[in-house]
Amino acid sequence: MKIQLHNTLTNRREDIDPENRGKIGFYCCGPTVYGPAHIGNFRTFLLQDVFRRVLEMEGYEVNHVRNLTDVDDKTIRQSLAEGMSLINFTEKWTKKFHADCERLNMRPPHGEPTATGHIQEQIDLIARLVDQDHAYAAQDGSVYFRIASFPNYGKLSNLDRRETQTQTTSSSGERNDADEYDRETVADFALWKAHKEEDGENAWDSPWGRGRPGWHIECSAMSIKYLGESFDIHGGGIDLCFPHHENEIAQSEAATGKVFARHWFHCAHLMVDGGKMSKSLGNLYTLEDLIQKGHTARELRYLLVSGSYRQPLNFTFEGLNAAKSALQKIDRATAKLCESGGLDSEGFRELTPRAPTGEMRFFEKSRADLCRDLNTSAALGNLFSSLKKLNANPPEEKDALIALSELATLLAALGIEPEFTASSSDSEIPEEIQKLAEERWKAKQSRDWPTADQIRNDLLEKGWKILDSKNGYDVEPK
Ligand SMILES: [Zn+2]
Repeated sequence: MKIQLHNTLTNRREDIDPENRGKIGFYCCGPTVYGPAHIGNFRTFLLQDVFRRVLEMEGYEVNHVRNLTDVDDKTIRQSLAEGMSLINFTEKWTKKFHADCERLNMRPPHGEPTATGHIQEQIDLIARLVDQDHAYAAQDGSVYFRIASFPNYGKLSNLDRRETQTQTTSSSGERNDADEYDRETVADFALWKAHKEEDGENAWDSPWGRGRPGWHIECSAMSIKYLGESFDIHGGGIDLCFPHHENEIAQSEAATGKVFARHWFHCAHLMVDGGKMSKSLGNLYTLEDLIQKGHTARELRYLLVSGSYRQPLNFTFEGLNAAKSALQKIDRATAKLCESGGLDSEGFRELTPRAPTGEMRFFEKSRADLCRDLNTSAALGNLFSSLKKLNANPPEEKDALIALSELATLLAALGIEPEFTASSSDSEIPEEIQKLAEERWKAKQSRDWPTADQIRNDLLEKGWKILDSKNGYDVEPK
């Protein structure tokens, strides 16, 4: 099936792989390894993981490259503060990142290059830019990209041309050499940063003197090395669109004269409790924080991929509880379908997740949702309605096996692994329990709290608990 995705560059939904090559080069800006990644970072990485899985479901050969930023202002500052060498410090946080990715069931990228492992490639790219007058060395040995030399600067984020082309210093008149700077000011940005005392030992030799690469250049140098000067898709959080991605385009296209990434895939923000995430609000949750509160990585993954990537997603603990009950529904429905198909849990796990060349018989809508601009939210909605139909009218064994193979394919694309517990394989909730739960729900709707509480306690005594979410409830064994 054709796969389409919104392209930030053209502001249109476009076909992936219009030339039908069957191979996709996919570059993603990875984490800066100076602390644990938070759930906002993971929303982007998880949606990229789902996108890659959808490509693989449809038979594409994907070369997924995601870098590790292991030298920048933050990593240096923090490693010095902790009295560790930069390499030991960033290795510690890289390990933590990998452990989190594994728990979140993310497929590891095919390449995971580091900035410090590619200093020469970055120097070579900067030298190409200096040779062509797109970059210049300042007195102190820093090298800057000359934005005025690249008329297309701003094409990705549609910045006003005057804003981008007339300023070679920041609005305060200072030359701007920070890796990240105020979004309101655009300045020639640093490709190479001359060594300063606060960098400690972290410096490398270059034609312009000792120093270190600026942040932006690493993504151009590494994506070009592993995917070529022109490649298919570049992904990142929407906050990276400007200046980072704008700078990546400028320095790459100025150096090579070719279109850098053809398709730009940006994921919208994650909000927490309806507002911004920030350290000062104490809501920059990590996977570890949520596990300590009794949630699981599977629930977090489900919640973070359940909203369409183009819309901001609001993280709440109510949402995590709803993710839990949604997953239990999937577990129960899968177990029931396995019974019809005569498969045990092992047999289900061994099914090969690959979409058929023709249409799916039972889950085609969900598949189409994923292929049409990665609409994960619609895909899940349709998945539930297909499962409901199948569970209401259990198919014959032969059909059940087809449905199971399709289901395995879709769940693999979403990265959801059903859990088969004793309770989900004989998943029927006794009628008496269902009735009570329904009565309690009605009592709650009519704000009859005493009755609702009484029934909740009765259910607990019978060994069942109720999980409430915004639009309903679920019952599970205590
Ligand atoms: Zn990047």
